[in-house]
Amino acid sequence: MRKVVEIKSKRFEDYESFLTEEDRKEIKRLSATLKGRKIGMYSATAFGGGVAEILYSMIPLMRDLGMDVEWEVLEADNSFFNITKKIHNGLQGQSGSLTEEEKEIYLRVNEKNAKSTNVEQYDIVVVHDPQPIPMIEYVRNGKQKWVWRCHIDTSNANPAYWDLIFSFMKDYDATIFTMKDFIKDASKLKKVALIPPSIDPLSEKNRELSRSEIETVFQRYDTDMTRPMLVQVSRFDPWKDPLGVVDIYKRLKKDFDIQLAMIGSMASDDPEGWLLYDRLLRHVGEDFDVKVLTNFNGVGAYEVNAFQRGAFLILQKSIKEGFGLTVTEGLWKEKPVIGGNVGGITLQIKDGINGYLVNDNDEAYERSRYLLEHPEEVSRLGKNGKEYVKKNFLITRHIMDYLRLFVSL
Ligand code: UDP
Repeated sequence: MRKVVEIKSKRFEDYESFLTEEDRKEIKRLSATLKGRKIGMYSATAFGGGVAEILYSMIPLMRDLGMDVEWEVLEADNSFFNITKKIHNGLQGQSGSLTEEEKEIYLRVNEKNAKSTNVEQYDIVVVHDPQPIPMIEYVRNGKQKWVWRCHIDTSNANPAYWDLIFSFMKDYDATIFTMKDFIKDASKLKKVALIPPSIDPLSEKNRELSRSEIETVFQRYDTDMTRPMLVQVSRFDPWKDPLGVVDIYKRLKKDFDIQLAMIGSMASDDPEGWLLYDRLLRHVGEDFDVKVLTNFNGVGAYEVNAFQRGAFLILQKSIKEGFGLTVTEGLWKEKPVIGGNVGGITLQIKDGINGYLVNDNDEAYERSRYLLEHPEEVSRLGKNGKEYVKKNFLITRHIMDYLRLFVSL
């Protein structure tokens, strides 16, 4: 059965103020060329994580620009998502390989999904991440242009997984990566585009909030705005190093009266999440200045926005990171972000200018400590962060890059 995602409409004109006059004209010109084209997007899930976050903004804006865009997600159960999580982990460098049986399940679920959708209707099909990448094998008929979008950090991929994914990738008409470091064997691919992700400045996650709105959310979760709050927003995933963040907090807590909010939604394609959530709670222990919050505590986009805006600083201590929208979100809210010196985070944090890139817990501790001792630095770094995101990582620029790629196909 096809699973089509419902999305609220958006108006492109509301976003024009984020564009230069030149870019505005360019987007209009590109969308006139693509007017009426049918585009199908496929991803694993419509909930949790960066891909869903982007598509909820990108698709309605493309629709408003005249394209006919639909978003479908995979129909699959936990056994499939356990396998695709292994693929995700392997592509980020974890050892091991799939068993023949796992490979078989991975392919059969894709075949079933491919056959139940009506790909025929699309001019362009955009497939996000490895979960649905094999679909192309089961429905390709030469009429559509196929684009694969990789959102993960493949810079150090385990060859067993890379080779599997590459066997599908090479059939795509174009492949999008966030950074050059993530690509291997580019010469064997038909077309490669480098496009970093983006945030939507007007979404519930990122729009301006008043001080009293932020305070209300803080009160609701029994936290207060008079003491510095450190925030990490991330799926509960070992690559995001939530336990490391708690260790950094514990060291700082000896000298500063601070709080920590660990916010992590549970994505439906991430069965590991619950295990790590449980581990994290035990690691925190009985310190009630640490809040571990999820969508099950009623933390949605608005609450994440409020925590990010009310934070003293934002941490994103990833060990691998495709991009890290949470970094972009923090910078946009004029907060210094202390992020792992890996993958897409290095595109966003300019060390000492809008935050700090850190290689380990000690460095993260030192940088956090420095900011707690020099709060005047926070606003300088924060202002630079917002400027940097405005120039490079807003949804308007992202759409322009996609439209250019579509036209080139
Ligand atoms: N997110 C959220 N609630 C949470 C955890 C994450 O809304 O509890 C959002 C977060 O704000 C960001 C996205 O999920 O927009 C995560 O994207 P990112 O690129 O940082 O990481 P990914 O999950 O894609 O690896």
